[in-house]
Amino acid sequence: MTDMGMKVEQVLHMVGGAGETSYATNSRLQEKTMYRTKPILDNAIEEMYRTLLPERLVVADLGCSSGPNTFLVVSEVLGVVGELRRRLEQKPPEIQFFLNDLPGNDFNNVFRSLERYGKKIEEEKGELLVPYYVVGVPGSFYGRLFPCRSVHFFHSSYCLMWLSQVPQGLESDRGVPLNKGNIYITETSPPQVVEAYQEQHRRDFSSFLKSRYAELSVGGGMVLTFLGRKKQHPALGDLSLLWGLLAEALNSMASEGVIAEVKVDGFNLPFYGPSMQEVKSVIHDEGLFDLDQAQTLEANWDPFDDSEDDLAFDNVANGKNVARYIRAVIEPLIAHQFGDAMLDELFLRYADNRRWRINMLGSSKDRKVKEREHHTLVVFMKEEKLVTFDLPFYSPSMEEEVKAVIHKKRSL
Ligand code: SAH
Repeated sequence: MTDMGMKVEQVLHMVGGAGETSYATNSRLQEKTMYRTKPILDNAIEEMYRTLLPERLVVADLGCSSGPNTFLVVSEVLGVVGELRRRLEQKPPEIQFFLNDLPGNDFNNVFRSLERYGKKIEEEKGELLVPYYVVGVPGSFYGRLFPCRSVHFFHSSYCLMWLSQVPQGLESDRGVPLNKGNIYITETSPPQVVEAYQEQHRRDFSSFLKSRYAELSVGGGMVLTFLGRKKQHPALGDLSLLWGLLAEALNSMASEGVIAEVKVDGFNLPFYGPSMQEVKSVIHDEGLFDLDQAQTLEANWDPFDDSEDDLAFDNVANGKNVARYIRAVIEPLIAHQFGDAMLDELFLRYADNRRWRINMLGSSKDRKVKEREHHTLVVFMKEEKLVTFDLPFYSPSMEEEVKAVIHKKRSL
């Protein structure tokens, strides 16, 4: 059995530090997606800055982790705002960055790298650099993290597929595991398991939206990027296969008695890759934000495959490449359930699975066409427009008041 339902907030974190197996060293896949979402991010920051022209700008990166990608966000915001304020001939604003993650995150690694990245950013931006300050914020983004209406812009990349807990209801009334042999939704998962995951995602994403709505300044916005799926059923597609291969490795170790079968049966991931339709439905039902842009990006899972063509990247190491990246993300959760001693063996088996090349990456004798089954969803949201905007006597201070009343009503 697992008690993960109670402890995700304490247990979940990426592999810390800057060593060979760390998230900081193994986050190129996520970095590549950030470059692809740059046009949406730049446009969102620009729109927010033009609308508000604040003297003090507050930006939060939610789920910053310990790796270098959070500095790309800092650099991007500084670049767009620095250039825009010059063009608009505005006084340089001061920017406050809040970098948030769960308490187990290696914030020290972020703080240690700050000086190095600060120097790089200074060199890159030169005269366009505006003053900025960086603060770490430990806590779950499924609850409140900031005072009311205090943040102008939220960014979050590769985080919202993590649930606040393993869904309840993955066991029968008599405590028998329903998702036996699996660690995520697969084609053999019973409908109750699929529903439990969907319900947990719906609940978590709603809490996320409510909290951000309360914290966002009038005229602010947010860009969220997360793993999701293109296929309609959650058992189909890349994520099911990605975790299915890990379940295979766990099951093979259990069948040889290296780890206890009962521990595998009780282990389910606090993770859900939604479809765009599911995401839109929660946003619509909450009615707090207008969806400005929504895109599904497709890529190959190999972090080192940078080619744009459709030919599979013929690299013998590619199963291993992906496995290394997945290990940097999932190792602490696995170690919590099964202990440290089995980790190397587990990830060796995971990396060696032939199905990586056949099903996930598209690089085997009979499969030369590249798979693009790594799906990320990107959404840019702004607060829902209030009808009162059309009033001839409307003023920004009124907008604050109307929003406060609406928010109070909605939270009743
Ligand atoms: N944004 C970074 C890191 C992504 S890794 C990048 O793009 O590279 C995902 C991060 O989300 C992890 O560090 C994890 O600890 C964090 N995370 C997951 N659930 C969270 C929650 N409820 N609140 C805050 N952070 C969370």
